[in-house]
Amino acid sequence: MLQVKRGRNAGDNPGPVVVILLGPPGCGKGTQSRELSRSLGLIHISSGDLLRKVAREDSDLGHTVRTTMNAGELVSDNLVCQMVLARTAQADCQRGVILDGFPRTMDQARFLCPLLPPRQTIVLDLKMSPTVLVERILGRLTCPACGEIYNIHSRPPRRTGTCDRDSALLGRRGDDSEATVRQRLIDYERQIHPLADHFRELNILQEINADVPPAVLSAQLCALVRTAMGFNDKKVSVSSFAQPRETQRSGQ
Ligand SMILES: [Zn+2]
Repeated sequence: MLQVKRGRNAGDNPGPVVVILLGPPGCGKGTQSRELSRSLGLIHISSGDLLRKVAREDSDLGHTVRTTMNAGELVSDNLVCQMVLARTAQADCQRGVILDGFPRTMDQARFLCPLLPPRQTIVLDLKMSPTVLVERILGRLTCPACGEIYNIHSRPPRRTGTCDRDSALLGRRGDDSEATVRQRLIDYERQIHPLADHFRELNILQEINADVPPAVLSAQLCALVRTAMGFNDKKVSVSSFAQPRETQRSGQ
């Protein structure tokens, strides 16, 4: 899909769009990506899911990825880029894609940026304050069977401790504490800062205050993308979503 941009012309029927979601671990980026995908008919490409899928395949690429991941090493930028590009070339991505977890490094961004459709790309930078992030993550429960994510504060399961879909017992990540969450946020900010700056220079970055209930955020993101990408005539004020936030860049 990313390769075919040049043959298309802007007009009543815009070409494929690319929505890139940035946000710290635990901010609900995956959930928001799935919601956007559902409402807008865009294909959600999670680099993590894609890696795990490829790792299960019986191919040279699958073998390489499997070996790398099993050794606890990071899959190279080049490999991640090729995988994402191959996925976007599939027929179902014609309307557009939501990239979740990609690009993550400047090398990946340098690969991706020349391929992005001009004026049909938006980067949503989800900003969450450390306090809200800690509450979200420490309250989170995950279903080991289907991967559904709950939160004891904002999205409790109907029956305490069990999944609404399959009744599996919900679990909590063992390594989460307030200190680790705060440290992860600092590490994330440090890693993503140059990427965000790069997208800002390209004038495609939109900072979003993500300290709001997930359903509210979903509605805002959806309206924002619809408007920015010319999906329909629903008008919203883009500027109303970029709100001041608590400074997160500590420890630099
Ligand atoms: Zn489940």
